[in-house]
Amino acid sequence: MEFNANLKKVKPSGIRKLFDLAQGKKDLINFGIGEPDFRTPYHIQEAAKKALDESYTRYTPNLGFLDLRKALSDKLNQKNKIQVVPEEILVAPGGTHALFISFYTLLNPGDEVIIPDPGFVAYEPQVYFAGGVPVYLPLRSKNNFHPDLEELKDCITSRTKAILLNSPSNPTGAMFNKEELSAIAQLSQEKDIFVISDELYEDIIFDGKEHVCIASFPGMKERTISIFGFSKSYAMTGWRLAYLATERNLIEEMNKLQQYTAVCANSIAQRAGLAGITGSQDCVKEMATSYQKRRDILIKGINEIEGLSCMVPEGAFYVFVDISETGMTCEELSIYLLDEYRVVTIPGNAFGKQGEGFIRLSFAASLEDIIEGITRIKKGIENLKLSILNSR
Ligand code: PMP
Repeated sequence: MEFNANLKKVKPSGIRKLFDLAQGKKDLINFGIGEPDFRTPYHIQEAAKKALDESYTRYTPNLGFLDLRKALSDKLNQKNKIQVVPEEILVAPGGTHALFISFYTLLNPGDEVIIPDPGFVAYEPQVYFAGGVPVYLPLRSKNNFHPDLEELKDCITSRTKAILLNSPSNPTGAMFNKEELSAIAQLSQEKDIFVISDELYEDIIFDGKEHVCIASFPGMKERTISIFGFSKSYAMTGWRLAYLATERNLIEEMNKLQQYTAVCANSIAQRAGLAGITGSQDCVKEMATSYQKRRDILIKGINEIEGLSCMVPEGAFYVFVDISETGMTCEELSIYLLDEYRVVTIPGNAFGKQGEGFIRLSFAASLEDIIEGITRIKKGIENLKLSILNSR
Protein backbone atom coordinates (compact mmCIF):
# COMPACT_ATOMS: atom_id res chain seq x y z
CA MET A 1 0.00 0.00 0.00
CA GLU A 2 1.38 3.43 -0.99
CA PHE A 3 0.82 6.08 1.65
CA ASN A 4 0.54 9.80 0.97
CA ALA A 5 3.89 10.64 -0.65
CA ASN A 6 3.99 14.06 1.03
CA LEU A 7 4.44 12.29 4.38
CA LYS A 8 7.58 10.56 3.12
CA LYS A 9 9.23 13.98 2.73
CA VAL A 10 8.99 14.61 6.47
CA LYS A 11 11.92 13.43 8.58
CA PRO A 12 11.56 12.42 12.24
CA SER A 13 11.92 15.45 14.53
CA GLY A 14 15.37 16.17 15.97
CA ILE A 15 13.67 17.31 19.17
CA ARG A 16 11.88 13.98 19.58
CA LYS A 17 15.16 12.15 19.07
CA LEU A 18 16.80 13.90 22.03
CA PHE A 19 13.74 13.37 24.23
CA ASP A 20 13.75 9.66 23.30
CA LEU A 21 17.41 9.41 24.29
CA ALA A 22 16.62 11.19 27.58
CA GLN A 23 13.81 8.74 28.43
CA GLY A 24 14.40 6.90 31.69
CA LYS A 25 17.46 8.99 32.65
CA LYS A 26 17.37 10.36 36.20
CA ASP A 27 18.45 13.73 37.67
CA LEU A 28 18.08 15.55 34.35
CA ILE A 29 18.30 19.29 33.82
CA ASN A 30 15.96 19.94 30.95
CA PHE A 31 16.75 22.86 28.63
CA GLY A 32 14.84 21.14 25.85
CA ILE A 33 11.28 21.98 26.71
CA GLY A 34 9.46 24.41 24.40
CA GLU A 35 6.60 25.38 26.70
CA PRO A 36 6.05 27.61 29.74
CA ASP A 37 6.75 25.98 33.10
CA PHE A 38 4.08 28.17 34.76
CA ARG A 39 0.61 27.00 35.68
CA THR A 40 -2.24 28.51 33.71
CA PRO A 41 -3.28 31.64 35.70
CA TYR A 42 -5.87 30.92 38.38
CA HIS A 43 -8.71 33.07 36.98
CA ILE A 44 -8.46 31.29 33.63
CA GLN A 45 -8.68 27.86 35.28
CA GLU A 46 -11.64 29.09 37.31
CA ALA A 47 -13.40 30.23 34.12
CA ALA A 48 -12.95 26.71 32.72
CA LYS A 49 -14.46 25.16 35.87
CA LYS A 50 -17.41 27.56 35.63
CA ALA A 51 -17.87 26.71 31.94
CA LEU A 52 -18.02 23.04 32.86
CA ASP A 53 -20.58 23.76 35.60
CA GLU A 54 -22.60 25.68 33.02
CA SER A 55 -22.34 22.74 30.61
CA TYR A 56 -20.46 24.38 27.77
CA THR A 57 -20.00 20.90 26.41
CA ARG A 58 -21.31 21.11 22.85
CA TYR A 59 -19.94 22.05 19.44
CA THR A 60 -19.27 25.75 19.13
CA PRO A 61 -19.56 27.77 15.90
CA ASN A 62 -16.78 26.61 13.55
CA LEU A 63 -14.97 29.95 13.75
CA GLY A 64 -15.30 30.03 17.54
CA PHE A 65 -17.77 31.57 20.01
CA LEU A 66 -18.87 35.02 18.84
CA ASP A 67 -18.19 36.70 22.21
CA LEU A 68 -14.65 35.33 22.12
CA ARG A 69 -14.11 36.56 18.56
CA LYS A 70 -15.48 39.98 19.57
CA ALA A 71 -13.03 40.15 22.46
CA LEU A 72 -10.21 39.03 20.15
CA SER A 73 -11.10 41.66 17.55
CA ASP A 74 -10.96 44.35 20.29
CA LYS A 75 -7.56 43.04 21.35
CA LEU A 76 -6.28 42.92 17.76
CA ASN A 77 -7.53 46.44 17.03
CA GLN A 78 -6.20 48.01 20.21
CA LYS A 79 -3.04 46.15 21.03
CA ASN A 80 -1.89 44.87 17.65
CA LYS A 81 -3.26 47.74 15.50
CA ILE A 82 -4.78 45.20 13.10
CA GLN A 83 -8.17 46.47 11.96
CA VAL A 84 -10.41 43.40 11.97
CA VAL A 85 -14.01 42.49 12.74
CA PRO A 86 -15.05 39.19 14.41
CA GLU A 87 -15.86 37.69 10.98
CA GLU A 88 -12.18 38.01 10.10
CA ILE A 89 -11.02 35.82 12.97
CA LEU A 90 -10.83 32.05 13.23
CA VAL A 91 -10.31 30.40 16.61
CA ALA A 92 -8.25 27.26 16.11
CA PRO A 93 -7.34 24.26 18.25
CA GLY A 94 -3.77 25.52 18.70
CA GLY A 95 -1.28 27.56 16.73
CA THR A 96 -0.01 24.44 15.00
CA HIS A 97 -3.45 23.84 13.51
CA ALA A 98 -3.80 27.52 12.60
CA LEU A 99 -0.54 27.20 10.65
CA PHE A 100 -1.79 24.04 8.95
CA ILE A 101 -5.02 25.74 7.88
CA SER A 102 -3.02 28.71 6.58
CA PHE A 103 -0.66 26.69 4.38
CA TYR A 104 -3.44 24.40 3.18
CA THR A 105 -5.70 27.28 2.21
CA LEU A 106 -3.06 29.25 0.33
CA LEU A 107 -1.10 26.59 -1.54
CA ASN A 108 -1.59 24.84 -4.84
CA PRO A 109 0.73 21.94 -5.73
CA GLY A 110 4.24 23.21 -6.43
CA ASP A 111 3.72 26.65 -4.86
CA GLU A 112 6.76 27.85 -2.96
CA VAL A 113 6.78 29.16 0.60
CA ILE A 114 9.79 30.95 2.02
CA ILE A 115 10.42 29.70 5.55
CA PRO A 116 13.13 30.73 8.03
CA ASP A 117 16.20 28.54 8.54
CA PRO A 118 16.61 27.99 11.45
CA GLY A 119 12.88 27.98 12.14
CA PHE A 120 10.10 26.30 14.12
CA VAL A 121 9.99 22.59 13.28
CA ALA A 122 6.39 22.48 12.01
CA TYR A 123 6.81 24.83 9.04
CA GLU A 124 8.63 22.52 6.62
CA PRO A 125 6.38 19.46 7.19
CA GLN A 126 3.23 21.54 6.91
CA VAL A 127 4.33 23.09 3.60
CA TYR A 128 4.89 19.53 2.33
CA PHE A 129 1.49 18.36 3.64
CA ALA A 130 -0.17 21.14 1.66
CA GLY A 131 1.68 20.06 -1.51
CA GLY A 132 3.98 23.08 -1.43
CA VAL A 133 7.73 23.46 -1.75
CA PRO A 134 9.72 25.02 1.12
CA VAL A 135 12.41 27.54 0.19
CA TYR A 136 14.78 28.33 3.02
CA LEU A 137 15.69 31.89 4.00
CA PRO A 138 18.98 31.64 5.91
CA LEU A 139 19.00 33.60 9.17
CA ARG A 140 22.61 34.20 10.09
CA SER A 141 24.22 34.69 13.46
CA LYS A 142 26.35 37.55 12.08
CA ASN A 143 23.02 39.42 11.61
CA ASN A 144 21.76 38.31 15.04
CA PHE A 145 19.40 36.02 13.11
CA HIS A 146 17.56 38.92 11.51
CA PRO A 147 16.64 38.52 7.83
CA ASP A 148 18.84 39.97 5.10
CA LEU A 149 16.55 41.66 2.58
CA GLU A 150 18.83 40.86 -0.37
CA GLU A 151 18.85 37.16 0.56
CA LEU A 152 15.07 37.30 0.91
CA LYS A 153 14.79 38.77 -2.60
CA ASP A 154 17.02 35.96 -3.89
CA CYS A 155 14.52 33.40 -2.51
CA ILE A 156 11.65 34.83 -4.57
CA THR A 157 10.68 33.09 -7.83
CA SER A 158 7.60 33.12 -10.05
CA ARG A 159 6.24 30.27 -7.88
CA THR A 160 6.57 32.08 -4.53
CA LYS A 161 3.17 32.17 -2.88
CA ALA A 162 3.96 33.16 0.66
CA ILE A 163 6.63 34.02 3.16
CA LEU A 164 6.48 32.77 6.72
CA LEU A 165 7.64 35.23 9.37
CA ASN A 166 8.15 34.27 12.99
CA SER A 167 8.88 37.09 15.40
CA PRO A 168 9.87 36.70 18.19
CA SER A 169 11.52 33.59 16.86
CA ASN A 170 11.72 30.03 18.00
CA PRO A 171 14.59 28.99 18.11
CA THR A 172 16.71 32.17 17.94
CA GLY A 173 14.85 34.75 20.06
CA ALA A 174 15.26 37.40 17.34
CA MET A 175 12.48 39.96 17.04
CA PHE A 176 12.05 41.90 13.80
CA ASN A 177 11.89 45.68 14.04
CA LYS A 178 9.55 48.14 12.30
CA GLU A 179 12.01 48.94 9.50
CA GLU A 180 12.57 45.28 8.64
CA LEU A 181 8.85 44.55 8.66
CA SER A 182 8.12 47.64 6.59
CA ALA A 183 10.66 46.53 3.95
CA ILE A 184 9.16 43.01 3.87
CA ALA A 185 5.66 44.49 3.63
CA GLN A 186 6.71 46.56 0.63
CA LEU A 187 8.32 43.54 -1.02
CA SER A 188 5.23 41.41 -0.47
CA GLN A 189 3.08 44.04 -2.18
CA GLU A 190 5.50 44.57 -5.08
CA LYS A 191 5.83 40.84 -5.75
CA ASP A 192 2.26 39.91 -4.79
CA ILE A 193 3.31 37.48 -2.07
CA PHE A 194 1.24 36.53 0.96
CA VAL A 195 2.63 36.73 4.48
CA ILE A 196 1.93 34.18 7.20
CA SER A 197 3.00 35.83 10.43
CA ASP A 198 3.51 33.51 13.38
CA GLU A 199 3.29 35.75 16.45
CA LEU A 200 2.85 33.10 19.14
CA TYR A 201 5.50 34.79 21.30
CA GLU A 202 4.15 38.35 21.00
CA ASP A 203 3.92 38.69 24.80
CA ILE A 204 7.31 37.26 25.71
CA ILE A 205 9.50 40.22 24.82
CA PHE A 206 12.33 41.83 26.75
CA ASP A 207 14.09 45.08 27.56
CA GLY A 208 10.97 47.20 26.97
CA LYS A 209 10.94 46.41 23.24
CA GLU A 210 7.75 46.71 21.20
CA HIS A 211 6.20 43.87 19.24
CA VAL A 212 5.14 45.10 15.79
CA CYS A 213 2.61 43.27 13.60
CA ILE A 214 3.19 43.27 9.85
CA ALA A 215 -0.59 43.28 9.29
CA SER A 216 -0.73 46.74 10.90
CA PHE A 217 1.11 48.29 7.91
CA PRO A 218 -1.06 49.91 5.21
CA GLY A 219 -2.35 47.41 2.66
CA MET A 220 -1.05 44.40 4.60
CA LYS A 221 -4.11 43.04 6.39
CA GLU A 222 -5.49 41.85 3.05
CA ARG A 223 -2.35 39.82 2.34
CA THR A 224 -1.37 38.62 5.80
CA ILE A 225 -2.52 35.76 7.97
CA SER A 226 -1.60 36.78 11.52
CA ILE A 227 -1.44 33.90 13.98
CA PHE A 228 -1.59 34.43 17.74
CA GLY A 229 -1.94 31.97 20.59
CA PHE A 230 -2.75 31.25 24.17
CA SER A 231 -0.08 28.57 24.62
CA LYS A 232 2.81 30.91 25.44
CA SER A 233 1.08 34.13 26.53
CA TYR A 234 -1.14 32.43 29.14
CA ALA A 235 0.80 29.19 29.73
CA MET A 236 -1.97 27.16 28.06
CA THR A 237 -0.16 24.67 25.80
CA GLY A 238 -2.34 21.71 26.75
CA TRP A 239 -5.63 23.55 26.21
CA ARG A 240 -5.05 23.76 22.44
CA LEU A 241 -6.26 27.27 21.70
CA ALA A 242 -5.09 29.90 19.21
CA TYR A 243 -6.54 32.30 16.64
CA LEU A 244 -5.74 33.82 13.31
CA ALA A 245 -6.86 37.00 11.62
CA THR A 246 -7.04 37.76 7.92
CA GLU A 247 -9.44 39.10 5.32
CA ARG A 248 -12.94 37.70 5.17
CA ASN A 249 -12.82 35.79 1.84
CA LEU A 250 -9.90 33.80 3.07
CA ILE A 251 -11.61 33.10 6.41
CA GLU A 252 -14.55 31.64 4.48
CA GLU A 253 -12.25 29.19 2.69
CA MET A 254 -10.41 28.39 5.92
CA ASN A 255 -13.71 27.74 7.63
CA LYS A 256 -14.26 24.76 5.30
CA LEU A 257 -11.00 23.23 6.44
CA GLN A 258 -11.79 23.92 10.08
CA GLN A 259 -15.29 22.48 9.73
CA TYR A 260 -14.15 19.24 8.13
CA THR A 261 -10.98 18.64 10.13
CA ALA A 262 -11.38 19.91 13.71
CA VAL A 263 -15.01 21.25 13.62
CA CYS A 264 -14.11 23.83 16.27
CA ALA A 265 -11.68 24.56 19.08
CA ASN A 266 -12.52 22.97 22.42
CA SER A 267 -15.55 24.67 24.00
CA ILE A 268 -14.24 24.82 27.59
CA ALA A 269 -10.86 26.10 26.37
CA GLN A 270 -12.63 28.87 24.47
CA ARG A 271 -14.50 29.99 27.62
CA ALA A 272 -11.21 29.95 29.53
CA GLY A 273 -9.50 31.86 26.73
CA LEU A 274 -12.20 34.54 26.91
CA ALA A 275 -11.37 35.05 30.59
CA GLY A 276 -7.69 35.29 29.64
CA ILE A 277 -8.22 37.92 26.95
CA THR A 278 -10.72 40.06 28.87
CA GLY A 279 -9.13 39.73 32.33
CA SER A 280 -6.14 41.55 33.81
CA GLN A 281 -2.98 41.14 31.73
CA ASP A 282 -0.75 41.37 34.84
CA CYS A 283 -0.15 37.61 34.76
CA VAL A 284 1.21 37.88 31.21
CA LYS A 285 3.60 40.67 32.22
CA GLU A 286 4.70 38.82 35.36
CA MET A 287 5.62 35.73 33.37
CA ALA A 288 7.57 37.84 30.84
CA THR A 289 9.47 39.56 33.67
CA SER A 290 10.34 36.20 35.15
CA TYR A 291 11.58 34.90 31.76
CA GLN A 292 13.77 38.00 31.42
CA LYS A 293 15.43 37.31 34.80
CA ARG A 294 16.14 33.73 33.80
CA ARG A 295 17.38 34.83 30.38
CA ASP A 296 19.87 37.23 31.96
CA ILE A 297 21.29 34.54 34.24
CA LEU A 298 21.47 31.98 31.46
CA ILE A 299 23.20 34.19 28.87
CA LYS A 300 25.69 35.48 31.44
CA GLY A 301 26.50 31.91 32.46
CA ILE A 302 26.82 30.68 28.87
CA ASN A 303 28.96 33.60 27.71
CA GLU A 304 31.35 32.97 30.63
CA ILE A 305 32.04 29.46 29.37
CA GLU A 306 35.08 29.48 27.12
CA GLY A 307 34.15 28.03 23.74
CA LEU A 308 30.45 28.94 23.91
CA SER A 309 28.72 32.20 23.02
CA CYS A 310 25.21 33.43 22.43
CA MET A 311 23.38 36.56 21.39
CA VAL A 312 20.87 38.17 23.72
CA PRO A 313 17.38 36.95 22.79
CA GLU A 314 14.95 39.84 22.24
CA GLY A 315 11.90 37.66 22.83
CA ALA A 316 10.56 34.08 23.29
CA PHE A 317 12.31 31.82 25.82
CA TYR A 318 15.19 30.32 23.90
CA VAL A 319 18.92 30.94 23.67
CA PHE A 320 20.63 29.75 20.49
CA VAL A 321 24.16 28.97 21.61
CA ASP A 322 27.10 29.00 19.19
CA ILE A 323 29.07 25.81 19.86
CA SER A 324 31.27 25.84 16.76
CA GLU A 325 34.45 26.35 18.80
CA THR A 326 33.97 23.02 20.58
CA GLY A 327 34.82 21.18 17.34
CA MET A 328 31.80 18.93 17.81
CA THR A 329 28.66 18.83 15.68
CA CYS A 330 25.52 20.07 17.42
CA GLU A 331 24.17 16.52 17.67
CA GLU A 332 27.42 15.18 19.10
CA LEU A 333 27.50 17.92 21.72
CA SER A 334 23.82 17.50 22.67
CA ILE A 335 24.27 13.74 23.07
CA TYR A 336 27.55 14.23 25.01
CA LEU A 337 25.88 16.69 27.43
CA LEU A 338 22.97 14.33 27.89
CA ASP A 339 24.99 11.14 28.36
CA GLU A 340 27.78 12.56 30.52
CA TYR A 341 26.14 15.49 32.34
CA ARG A 342 22.41 14.71 32.22
CA VAL A 343 21.57 18.01 30.53
CA VAL A 344 18.95 18.04 27.77
CA THR A 345 19.60 20.52 24.94
CA ILE A 346 18.29 20.54 21.38
CA PRO A 347 20.77 20.32 18.47
CA GLY A 348 20.40 23.40 16.28
CA ASN A 349 20.09 21.37 13.08
CA ALA A 350 16.65 20.18 14.30
CA PHE A 351 15.53 23.65 13.12
CA GLY A 352 17.21 23.58 9.70
CA LYS A 353 20.62 23.35 8.04
CA GLN A 354 21.68 26.79 9.28
CA GLY A 355 21.26 25.53 12.85
CA GLU A 356 24.41 23.38 12.59
CA GLY A 357 27.00 24.76 15.02
CA PHE A 358 24.32 25.74 17.57
CA ILE A 359 22.28 24.19 20.35
CA ARG A 360 18.98 25.57 21.64
CA LEU A 361 18.46 26.06 25.36
CA SER A 362 14.99 26.88 26.67
CA PHE A 363 14.86 29.06 29.76
CA ALA A 364 11.30 28.06 30.56
CA ALA A 365 12.94 26.28 33.50
CA SER A 366 13.37 27.14 37.18
CA LEU A 367 16.25 29.40 38.26
CA GLU A 368 17.75 26.55 40.31
CA ASP A 369 17.73 24.29 37.27
CA ILE A 370 19.22 27.02 35.10
CA ILE A 371 22.07 27.59 37.57
CA GLU A 372 22.75 23.87 38.01
CA GLY A 373 22.51 23.39 34.21
CA ILE A 374 25.11 26.09 33.57
CA THR A 375 27.47 24.44 36.09
CA ARG A 376 27.10 21.09 34.36
CA ILE A 377 27.53 22.48 30.85
CA LYS A 378 30.64 24.40 32.01
CA LYS A 379 32.15 21.22 33.42
CA GLY A 380 31.24 19.36 30.23
CA ILE A 381 32.93 21.90 27.95
CA GLU A 382 36.03 22.13 30.19
CA ASN A 383 36.42 18.35 30.28
CA LEU A 384 35.87 18.22 26.54
CA LYS A 385 38.84 20.55 26.08
CA LEU A 386 40.97 18.47 28.44
CA SER A 387 40.18 15.29 26.59
CA ILE A 388 41.01 16.95 23.24
CA LEU A 389 44.34 18.17 24.67
CA ASN A 390 45.12 14.72 26.10
CA SER A 391 44.41 13.03 22.79
CA ARG A 392 46.90 15.26 20.93
N1 PMP B 1 4.76 28.72 16.47
C1 PMP B 1 5.90 28.66 17.18
C2 PMP B 1 7.03 29.53 16.76
C3 PMP B 1 6.00 27.80 18.27
O1 PMP B 1 7.16 27.74 18.96
C4 PMP B 1 4.90 27.00 18.62
C5 PMP B 1 4.95 26.03 19.79
N2 PMP B 1 6.15 25.56 20.17
C6 PMP B 1 3.74 27.10 17.85
C7 PMP B 1 3.70 27.97 16.78
C8 PMP B 1 2.52 26.27 18.12
O2 PMP B 1 1.95 26.49 19.35
P1 PMP B 1 0.57 25.80 19.78
O3 PMP B 1 0.21 24.79 18.76
O4 PMP B 1 0.82 25.21 21.14
O5 PMP B 1 -0.43 26.92 19.85
